[in-house]
Amino acid sequence: MEINITFSCQCGAFIDEAVYCDGPNVLAKSNAASLREYWKTLICDGCGKDYDTHILCTLSDTNVRIPNVVDLNFDVHDLFEEEDVAAEIESTHQLDVYRKVSTDVVSLLRHPYPQEVQATLNNMLFAQVVTAVEAYLSSSFISTVMNDDALIRRLIETDPELAKRQFSLKEIFTQWEGLKLLVARYLKDLIFHDLKKIKPMYLSVLDIDFGDVAWLFQAILIRHDCVHRNGFDKDGNQQEIKSETIIELVKQCTHLVADTENQLIARQET
Ligand SMILES: [Zn+2]
Repeated sequence: MEINITFSCQCGAFIDEAVYCDGPNVLAKSNAASLREYWKTLICDGCGKDYDTHILCTLSDTNVRIPNVVDLNFDVHDLFEEEDVAAEIESTHQLDVYRKVSTDVVSLLRHPYPQEVQATLNNMLFAQVVTAVEAYLSSSFISTVMNDDALIRRLIETDPELAKRQFSLKEIFTQWEGLKLLVARYLKDLIFHDLKKIKPMYLSVLDIDFGDVAWLFQAILIRHDCVHRNGFDKDGNQQEIKSETIIELVKQCTHLVADTENQLIARQET
C-alpha cells in the first residue's frame, strides 16, 4: 500500500512524501495478529533533517507516528485506483498538453501586465513549466511501458523497489492485468514525488538518455520554493524570477520533450 504523509518541518518547509509498505499480514487469523510495523526515514528538502517514521498496519487500521511533529497528516491509498491509472496508460495526448501549456506560458509572459503583479505571475509560470515537463515525461513513460509487456518485465527487473516487491509466479500468471495496474500506479506516484528517478528509468527501460539535466533538477528545487513558500525566502523577501529565465527554461524543456518524443517514435518504428 501507499501512504501519503504530510507535515511541516521546524524549518518551515512542508514535507509531502509517498511511502510504500506491504501493509498488514492479510493471512493473519485475527486483527491483532495482522500487525506489521515499518520504519522509514523522511528527509526535509529544506534543511535536511531526518524524521523517523513508524508505520503500523493492521487489517482494520493504519497508523503513522513521527515524534515531535505537530501537524502530521496521512492518507492511505489502495494501490488500485483503477480509473485514474487506466486513463494514464491509454493517454496519447502528452505532447499536445505540453505544447499547449508551454505556448500559453510564453504568451502570458509577453502580455503587458502591471509591474507589481509580475513577480507573482512569474512564480506561477515558472512552476507551471516545470509541472508541464514533468507531466510529459512521466505520462509518456507510463503509457509507453505499460502498453508493452516486454518493457513491463524490464521495468520490474531493473527497478530497485519493484524488484524488492518480488511478484510471485502466481500473481504474474493469474493476475497480469491487476499487476499491470499496480505497477502503473506505483510509477505514477513514484515519479510524481521524485522526478529524479525518471532519468535512470528512461535509460534502463527505454534506452533513452536525457544527458545532463542538472538544469531540470535545479528548476524542480526552485519550483518547490515557488509553490511551498509562494516565492518568498525565509526572511520574507520575494524572490524574483526573471521573464528571461522562464523563456530559457521553456526552451530547455521543449528541447528535452522534442528529443524524448523523437526517440519514443523511433522505438515504435523498430
Ligand atoms: Zn526542514
